[in-house]
Amino acid sequence: MPETIYDVVVVGSGPAGYTAAIRAGQYGLRTALVEKDSYLGGTCLHVGCIPTKALLFNAELWDHLKNAGEFGIEGVGSRKLNWQAVQERKSKIVSKHAKGLEFLMRKNKVETVSGRGRVSGPAQNGIHVVGVEGVGNSNRQLRTANVVLATGSEARMIPGLEPDERVLTNIEILELTAVPKSLVIVGAGAVGVEFASIFRSFDTEVTILEMLPRLVPLEDEEVSKELARVYRKRGINFHLGARVEKVERTKSGIAVAFSADGKAQKLETDKILIAVGRKPNTEGIGLEKTRIQPERGFLKTNEWMQTAEPGVYAIGDIVLGSPQLAHVGAMEGIVAVAKVAGRPEKPINLQRIPNVTFCHPEIGSVGLTEAKAREQGYTVKVGKFPFTANSRASIVGEHEGFIKIVSESAYGEILGVHIIGPQATELIAEAVTAMELEATVEDLMWTIHAHPTLAEAMLDASNSVYGMAINV
Ligand code: NAD
Repeated sequence: MPETIYDVVVVGSGPAGYTAAIRAGQYGLRTALVEKDSYLGGTCLHVGCIPTKALLFNAELWDHLKNAGEFGIEGVGSRKLNWQAVQERKSKIVSKHAKGLEFLMRKNKVETVSGRGRVSGPAQNGIHVVGVEGVGNSNRQLRTANVVLATGSEARMIPGLEPDERVLTNIEILELTAVPKSLVIVGAGAVGVEFASIFRSFDTEVTILEMLPRLVPLEDEEVSKELARVYRKRGINFHLGARVEKVERTKSGIAVAFSADGKAQKLETDKILIAVGRKPNTEGIGLEKTRIQPERGFLKTNEWMQTAEPGVYAIGDIVLGSPQLAHVGAMEGIVAVAKVAGRPEKPINLQRIPNVTFCHPEIGSVGLTEAKAREQGYTVKVGKFPFTANSRASIVGEHEGFIKIVSESAYGEILGVHIIGPQATELIAEAVTAMELEATVEDLMWTIHAHPTLAEAMLDASNSVYGMAINV
């Protein structure tokens, strides 16, 4: 039988890789998807987005039950948390979607190959070889015209620490057999504030240590301030400008020495979560034999996700200068495969990427913060509308937060939208679409929003840019 020559071999089956493989299949390309783990879906599906958001939903329900009396629901005073059932529900969701991915691969005629993939160097006569080291002796060599690298990332550790049952990363924290009494979280990015939210809801004593001067430091400053206000109210402790000096195991837990506000401080805790960012998985994938020169492990690409090695693409968390978000990786996969297939493509615009953090209150943002817009020389006009003045927010009992629109004053170009509050992770989609279609603030002001909805707050926020919000 003649050896298969693939059009595309994708290495790594996270959201970037599986999306690229499915799209390649849809285009009728001969496609293989190489995965080292025994399941498809990568970090996002197994130890990231999906299980975390499942736990966040449990936390939200639990919080609603705490306040059941306010909604006139009585008799739930003796509620009890069955942590094992919470974990089982989370695992079921993950398994269901992992099976769904296997189905999608079959449906789109993508061959899945089990093992660790590695490129063998530049193409010979236009053909690359991807070596796959499988379990046992099941090594294979895949011949292909194009390679898409989508090997993802892993949690960065504080030097000298190793994860175990007390020192946790996003992986170990999802496997806890009980809710910890106390939890110190290092880092107030998405991972840090989401787990703070989950475990505080379940009554853990949570303390966040963040090196920079604010929580969620990449968000608009007013969003960070609002999150800090609500977290304080929720009893979540945090130290900003904090420097972790030493993490030591003690008989009963962990001792953390840190400095903040110019003072040396110490905390005793049951568990510690390290959430200080993620490093790309680009070692051991054969790059040394190619023209690709990683920068701090990240791979440089052009707008079509092509690396310096002809025929080799990089997508997802390994791409230099690209935010490490599942939805960005997925779109990069679509861009790369459109290029391979010679189909119409459109490069990623970094200013139109939704950032969504599922802490409580939720955060959704897109485009420039107010400070960044000013820094870039725009004459800025800002509108802000609080959820306290939105009737749907009162109905669902969630009054925290606001929608803030940052616009350019001359033509009303929307430069950025920043939401903190109920359903912020869903509401941001309207702002992303508006910006993608180059709508102005005035276009939003003339767009009819259904009443009573949270989305109406977007209408009010756009009106407030010109001091004309109806509801405040
Ligand atoms: P991050 O880079 O978003 O945040 C890390 C935080 O840790 C930063 O605020 C940083 O200032 C702080 N930090 C770094 N070193 C520190 C130290 N030694 N002491 C104290 N603070 C320190 O990283 P993350 O939260 O680990 O998330 C990793 C990636 O995964 C990010 O790109 C994130 O956007 C993504 N992610 C996204 C979501 C989501 O979209 N909802 C959820 C989880 C993770």
